[in-house]
Amino acid sequence: MLVRGIDLHLHSTASDGALTPTELVHRAREQGLQAIALTDHDTVDGLAEARRAAENCGIQLINGIELSCVWNGMTLHIVGLQIDPEAEAIRELTRLQQGNRLERAKVIADRLGKQNFGNVWEGVRQMLGPDRVPARPDFARYLVDKGYVDSIQQAFDSYLGAGKLGDVKQFWPSLEAVVKAIVESGGVAVIAHPMRYKQTTAKLRRLILEFKSYGGQAIEVAVANLDSGRIGLLTELCRQYDLYASCGSDFHMPGRPWQEIGRFPPLPAGLKPVWNLWAPQVCQG
Ligand code: AMP
Ligand code: MN
Ligand code: MN
Ligand code: MN
Repeated sequence: MLVRGIDLHLHSTASDGALTPTELVHRAREQGLQAIALTDHDTVDGLAEARRAAENCGIQLINGIELSCVWNGMTLHIVGLQIDPEAEAIRELTRLQQGNRLERAKVIADRLGKQNFGNVWEGVRQMLGPDRVPARPDFARYLVDKGYVDSIQQAFDSYLGAGKLGDVKQFWPSLEAVVKAIVESGGVAVIAHPMRYKQTTAKLRRLILEFKSYGGQAIEVAVANLDSGRIGLLTELCRQYDLYASCGSDFHMPGRPWQEIGRFPPLPAGLKPVWNLWAPQVCQG
């Protein structure tokens, strides 16, 4: 798969990524990218460091975030691009989300503890230190490190993935709240990895209509690990609902070749690239 010049979905140590914002920017530069968005889960804390690094090595940084929300009983991720991280709406929502994440982590630890996986809360706190709120990948790592499961994938498949006991949804805000916060912060709302929610096409259409009614404008189309049929469906939905198209790897850490910075198919011809909304002169590279 070709490396593309723009990657609009990346994680750092500010959420569940393994690279610091500076290391992430340097890796993007090494991969030959011209522009990236840092989109950490429910926080903008990595953006200032990423901006300093980006200015030093001549790469364009787009301020981003990936917000968790609940819609129709499902956890969804909405990416915000080109947001103002100082805007009141985004500050308020990220404050709320960090509190939500802490409460949720305690519930997850409690539920896993009841499966006889030891003192889960103490275990993950020791692993992460007191400042980081544990996310599901951290619980997965705990289960692997303690020998309760063989792999991160098994931890998700059995205990943490969608519909499993560690998939605690009740703390997330609504789709409406997150889309509106992104729009109020001057950003563009994007449905992240739309094919990962295992929903019917009819439900995806309902999601798109509701998302648009709150001011959402784009969906991710050029993402890794999608067959041409699914990319074709997303392309069709973009055209039908007049959506802008985004692209991104969802990079979290080195050593996962299927999720490397800049590695995903090109945006299908004829779609409106989301960056046309703020930098119409940029080409995909
Ligand atoms: P959270 O934000 O705490 O709900 O955790 C969700 C994160 O877990 C996602 O952003 C991914 O980084 C990670 N994740 C979800 N499913 C899997 C999986 N099957 N294998 C590895 N990581 C996963
Ligand atoms: Mn993640
Ligand atoms: Mn996501
Ligand atoms: Mn992500």
